Amino acid sequence: MNDWLNAMVGHRVRQHREEGLTMSAEKAFVADTGHDVYQRRFKPVVVAVLLTIVAGFALAPSLPALLVTFVALYLWVDFYSGVLHVVLDDPAFCRLPLIGVPCVEFQWHHNFEYDIASRSLFDVWGDLNVLLFVKALLLFGIAVPLGHGPTALMVAGVGFFWAYANQVAHRMAHTAARKRPAWAKRLQGFGILVPPRTHQDHHATHDTSFPVLSGRSRNLIDGLRARVPNRWVWLGVFLFLTGFDLVLFVFALDALPL
Ligand SMILES: [Zn+2]
Ligand SMILES: [Zn+2]
Repeated sequence: MNDWLNAMVGHRVRQHREEGLTMSAEKAFVADTGHDVYQRRFKPVVVAVLLTIVAGFALAPSLPALLVTFVALYLWVDFYSGVLHVVLDDPAFCRLPLIGVPCVEFQWHHNFEYDIASRSLFDVWGDLNVLLFVKALLLFGIAVPLGHGPTALMVAGVGFFWAYANQVAHRMAHTAARKRPAWAKRLQGFGILVPPRTHQDHHATHDTSFPVLSGRSRNLIDGLRARVPNRWVWLGVFLFLTGFDLVLFVFALDALPL
């Protein structure tokens, strides 16, 4: 499937070149570099994340702490996915070091919306490999030496659970109704997973409806974008949250009497 999608990318870029059309940033990047947009992801990292999820739930320090984390991170991951999406959708970032390639790969989803529904789930989860590796490194690197190990493991497990749920939510928003399982339709109906119509608003103009877990932070993100249009502020906030959101959550949680 990755090979087939990469062939489609090549075809689309050639078509644009032959017709002399102006290329959007993600097409120009592929035209210049020949980058393979759809990659087979490294499965052992996905397995390690799945094990972290199991351990995070099973070894939670207490049930109240687990419940608070479960609900709080469900709401948080939707918002964070919105910030991430705003930044990775920005064509001006496609040539930056480190985040340029993720931006290019992200923006190709606007050309082939069905990509996320057609690739293997391992690859769709694996798209988060580098992000979750960085988050785990900072979370455990900071929280464990300071004596917050058990809470950090729970927060990593629950946070990564919602990160993978976020990928499933986005995938289900692009899965044809006849192929979508009943549980997904039900969760979309309740608004627990992002309803396809809400996410389609994003694909109409690419400038609204950014969050993809539940879509509930949509208006908050749109409002923040209207007030703070500067892309570099968004990039800075995204990098800060990527590094420290879970660490700060662990400290806050351990300060509560749970
Ligand atoms: Zn987008
Ligand atoms: Zn989409």
